[in-house]
Amino acid sequence: MNLNNEPLETAAKALRSKTRFLVVGHVNPDGDCLGCVCALGIALQRLGKSVVAVSPDGVPETYQFLPLSESVVQSVADGTPFDVAIIVDCEGLDRTGPVEQSIRSCDFLIEIDHHPGGGRESSVCLVNPSAAATGEILLQLFKVAGIRIDGDIATCLLVAIVTDTGSFRFSNVQSSTFRTAAELVEAGASPSEIARNVYETRSYSSTKLLGLALSTIRTTADGRIAWASISQQQMAESSASGAETEGIVNYVRAVRGTEVGLLFREATNNATHVSLRSRDGLDISQVARLFGGGGHSMAAGCTVERPLTDAEGLVLDAVRKWMGF
Ligand code: 5GP
Ligand code: MN
Repeated sequence: MNLNNEPLETAAKALRSKTRFLVVGHVNPDGDCLGCVCALGIALQRLGKSVVAVSPDGVPETYQFLPLSESVVQSVADGTPFDVAIIVDCEGLDRTGPVEQSIRSCDFLIEIDHHPGGGRESSVCLVNPSAAATGEILLQLFKVAGIRIDGDIATCLLVAIVTDTGSFRFSNVQSSTFRTAAELVEAGASPSEIARNVYETRSYSSTKLLGLALSTIRTTADGRIAWASISQQQMAESSASGAETEGIVNYVRAVRGTEVGLLFREATNNATHVSLRSRDGLDISQVARLFGGGGHSMAAGCTVERPLTDAEGLVLDAVRKWMGF
């Protein structure tokens, strides 16, 4: 995993020399983005900087054990001055939702990301699509900046890596991923504590939602595409939050014979979020991009501004066409 030294050094210099920082993750936050937001917040506070750490959709309960997560806010007051804005795991400014304007009014933007489409608008671009998680790149930056990796920072970064690799199961895992993880454990992160919080503690509502969602599973006649759907009614019935849909799509892709797994979530009467997953190197992000979304080659997402059943039809047709049938 290689990133040019020059942008790393420029970013490290900014961390050390500037004073007021805005740190932002993406909407529908996951463990990688929240781990990075918290790790950066901790590191900057230790350097004596002023830092506002933002997650536009808040911090889901699962991630509230992360150090500093209680200080993460959802928005920033218009006109608050910052010297540097840092966005993590975002693949572009539009993924920061309502915080985008505050970022744009800052002269110096650092983008840290492992999505192939990231880094187009930044002053300093730390984008490496071969990194398993944005947290891996952040660790490199901390090292160049001479920031000590203590137990709290190590925990945040290991959460980033564990969640974005599906607990070291996905094809983004390389030998270096384990080396990085080992380094973080040596610095004080506890794999069992992370697993207990992230995987072994499920809310009643998310467990109920998982059941409702999986009961809707369907496949094409040849079994190559499988999909499940979550309606607003099922969200209400389970009292689950949007964040509690995380991971459900992996069950859909895991059905034997499935090449593409999809999860549709009715966000409003007129908007449906789609999670797309593929395997064996099939670049499903091409389909997500057709609908204005993005992501990684085998894990991508988009929001289709259509009711649930229309969105299902449109995306399924696009996937079928893209697979050549
Ligand atoms: P998920 O399906 O879990 O929401 O997202 C899977 C991957 O696709 C993540 O890397 C996520 O950041 C990305 N993603 C999800 N929705 C969108 C979207 O609307 N636009 C872009 N650019 N990426 C998305
Ligand atoms: Mn990520």
